[in-house]
Amino acid sequence: MENKFDSQSVIEEFESLTKNAKTVQIETLKKILKDNCEAEYLKKWNLDGRFDPQTYTSCVPVVTHKDLDPYIQKIADGASYPVLTGNPITTITLSSGTTQGKPKFVPFNDELTENTMQIYRTSFAFRNREFPIGNGKALSFIFGSKQFTTKGGLLAGTATTNVYRSAQFKKTMLAMQTPCCSPDEVIFAPDFHQSLYCHLLCGLIFRDEIQVISSTFAHSIVHSFRTFELVWSELCSDIRTGVLSARITVQSIRNAMAAVLTPNPDLADEIQNKCLGLIDWNGLIPELFPNCKYIYAIMTGSMEPYLKKLRVYAGGVRLLSADYGSSEGWIGANVNPDMPPEKTSFTVLPNIGYFEFLPLREIDESDSVEPKPIGLTDVELGEEYEVVVTNFAGLYRYRLGDVVKVIGFHNATPKLQFVCRRNLMLNINLDKNTEKDLQLSVETAAKLLADEKLEVVDFTSLVNLTTDPGHYVIFWEVSGDASDFVLKECCNCLDKSFVDAGYVSSRKVNAIGPLELRVLRRGTFQKIINHYVGLGSALNQFKTPRCVGPSNRKVLQILCNNVDKSYASNAFG
Ligand code: AMP
Repeated sequence: MENKFDSQSVIEEFESLTKNAKTVQIETLKKILKDNCEAEYLKKWNLDGRFDPQTYTSCVPVVTHKDLDPYIQKIADGASYPVLTGNPITTITLSSGTTQGKPKFVPFNDELTENTMQIYRTSFAFRNREFPIGNGKALSFIFGSKQFTTKGGLLAGTATTNVYRSAQFKKTMLAMQTPCCSPDEVIFAPDFHQSLYCHLLCGLIFRDEIQVISSTFAHSIVHSFRTFELVWSELCSDIRTGVLSARITVQSIRNAMAAVLTPNPDLADEIQNKCLGLIDWNGLIPELFPNCKYIYAIMTGSMEPYLKKLRVYAGGVRLLSADYGSSEGWIGANVNPDMPPEKTSFTVLPNIGYFEFLPLREIDESDSVEPKPIGLTDVELGEEYEVVVTNFAGLYRYRLGDVVKVIGFHNATPKLQFVCRRNLMLNINLDKNTEKDLQLSVETAAKLLADEKLEVVDFTSLVNLTTDPGHYVIFWEVSGDASDFVLKECCNCLDKSFVDAGYVSSRKVNAIGPLELRVLRRGTFQKIINHYVGLGSALNQFKTPRCVGPSNRKVLQILCNNVDKSYASNAFG
């Protein structure tokens, strides 16, 4: 399988799994519970050798990370007995933690790597049927995070770092004809700025062989090409002379790059001419990578705001949106690659975990009603749910915090659309605005900048309760200087574009104060990335927190210290 990719058998396996989703779920749960029945956590719930869904869901509670944290901590501290899993956990994953402000620990094991490969293979089989690629390379903006050892001696790093380091990852990428064009020393460099520079350099050196440009999340592709706009002439100079820029100070990267970088004035000229010929970097990707068949990354959810810029770089090159997963495990594959990114759905793979779905309607009705999750094959078309995961690495009935919508079925398995994170909510009074509402409002207001040829580079928000009444604050980093007049208009437009009835009525009676737009200095979001990478996150897993809570002190401080101008809305008089 790994040496020669057999799309047909991957698709057949997927069809069979999804047809028999119910049975596969029962079998998967049985396997997980059997393998781990000696673990302290499972013993506590007295399953007594009963591994069926009914017993499981009536004995084991639905939990959040907070509930499992003490157990995960014991593992990290080196407990010598099975805590959450039968086999000892040897690696800890740091979830990106962009929402809470600090990374969470999550157990990781080989089964999760295998699940990842199954997801990669599945979506690739469908993708390659529709958009076949030949032999070549991928310009993959992938980055290893800092790794450290926990008190108990376990290796800790981001999920993607754990996966990229695995032998299976390389084999699978090779079989999928998309080995990364950069050497490992570049991927796992201790400094992501240097790593990014060298990814770009390797991409240019192998430009004719690049078939795919990819990353885990689309943000890193956009971020990488924004960096390219700043460093392209330096990259050309490196290629011309064969001498790596002095900005690369890590010796292991210099050594590895020496093997790929040789003087090539013709290539440097060609790239230079292409860059000089581009207008506003439109179509940068097809110009520089003429054989690139598509761009591949997660483009849904909090990545949607970057699609506009990505489309500018992509010119006519197709954008294919990737699969749905998390540090806690994968959930579904995109098996309809021909859909535009905004319409992407994910078909749940029924053998990579046991999945339950908390109906959102029920949660909203009353706090006293214990919400009851339902099984994978019991979900209803058109309904929204929070995903609850039981995986092979010690998470049992774990609330993922993501809201998804069932938009169809592939055989007996639901196809999910990502809606938003549950806890990302702007809320002061009767209002409830999700990440998606914020995104739509920003999109609408940002149109006013287009006349000045400007764009919103990135954005976030907070609820300011230090004023009476409280109000929303939206932070924008803009690509250049916009006039006060336009920014004031943008501020009013943001305020008007939150159409949630609770918000509008509260604004009308001043139960929520005027929305405030704070424009940030250029480079503020880079500082936020640096902060998260410093905490152990990796650039390719980075997601801008769309709403910053009071506990996220450092990010708040970066934002508040970098405000250039601010405007208050008078949209409601
Ligand atoms: P991490 O903590 O870095 O593992 O991020 C996992 C989170 O990223 C998930 O819980 C989702 O909120 C988000 N995510 C992952 N895949 C997708 C996707 N395909 N579309 C939208 N959001 C996603």
